[in-house]
Amino acid sequence: MNFQSFNPPRRILMGPGPSDISPEVLASLSRPVIGHLDPLFVGMMDEVKALLQYAFQTKNEFTIALSAPGSAGMEACFVNLVEAGDKVIVCRNGVFGDRMIQNVTRIGAEAIVVDSPWGRAVEIDKVEQALIANPDAKFVAFVHAETSTGAVSDAKTLCALAQKHHCLTIVDAVTSLGGIELKVDEWGIDAIYSGSQKCLSCVPGLSPISFSQKAVDVIKERKTKIQSWFLDQSLVMSYWSGNGKRSYHHTAPVNSLYGLHESLVQLHREGLENRIKRHKIQHEALAEGLAKLGIEFIVPKEERLPQLNAIYIPEGIDDVKVRHYLLNKYNLEIGAGLGDLAGKAWRIGLMGYAARSENVILCLAALEDALNQ
Ligand SMILES: *Cc1c(COP(=O)(O)O)cnc(C)c1O
Repeated sequence: MNFQSFNPPRRILMGPGPSDISPEVLASLSRPVIGHLDPLFVGMMDEVKALLQYAFQTKNEFTIALSAPGSAGMEACFVNLVEAGDKVIVCRNGVFGDRMIQNVTRIGAEAIVVDSPWGRAVEIDKVEQALIANPDAKFVAFVHAETSTGAVSDAKTLCALAQKHHCLTIVDAVTSLGGIELKVDEWGIDAIYSGSQKCLSCVPGLSPISFSQKAVDVIKERKTKIQSWFLDQSLVMSYWSGNGKRSYHHTAPVNSLYGLHESLVQLHREGLENRIKRHKIQHEALAEGLAKLGIEFIVPKEERLPQLNAIYIPEGIDDVKVRHYLLNKYNLEIGAGLGDLAGKAWRIGLMGYAARSENVILCLAALEDALNQ
């Protein structure tokens, strides 16, 4: 075998993630590797922490990036906070809510499942009924932005409801962070996780997480040992804590963290509000163009995510053929349907750096061309 270097083409990534990466973030990845305990690297990590606190809108001391993808962030929240026998109210309105249930049951805890229709927000009334029926529930878990369906849920109201019933909240913000309004402290979110490759527009493989003081206390007061060594945050806390105390836990993915730092610097420079506004403007432009093509959204207007546009595949159109056409002719990737929506939907992402006018225009023109073929 004659092995060659791998040189992928430059695709335009308008699927459910990974999203487009800016030239600055891409360039940051090729900077020299330094030791992960090098004082310069430690200093950069402290900035990552401060920038994540800004992105999450939190003062939580425990705000870090896990060296693993969003799925590990999900697992970290559940295995650290939930113990066998605990009751967790889990809202399911798509694929990722279902994964939360699997996390809860694998711990040996009890999942009280609140189902809402796919393509819709979590139904608040049903969550309230579940809280009333289960006064011994300890947690409410939900997905803020369901990437499988393109629906946003009312995180603020869900958190207020959980607090009223003395429950801690576990929130999936993998697709929401940096794309729509998200206020960890103001809304009273206790445990939250995200991913580097969605609206933050960094390479995949890092999961920003943040725990409130209440959540940290729950971890400290656990009766049982966390079954995962790697995800045990009581061990990681000392790794990320500042003032020179840093000790070895695992080798940080040094260059990926350069990328995250750069992407967060860009977010900070643009400003959260401007970033959110940009997603909304590009979404509206895309929605207008899709309407002209006669394409319909899955989610009702007021529950739509600007950064993840789930649309019905028009009647008689071959799902795979169209996506291959877009990829081969235009270097454009859009997402397939997931779970119940496989074969029925496409998911057009406008995440982070991908949320730009030229992408919207290209996507609409390419889609029109594909549908005409
Ligand atoms: C992408 C995604 C995840 C999983 O993140 P990975 O980085 O792929 O592990 C979890 N939840 C939601 C809502 C997502 O969109």
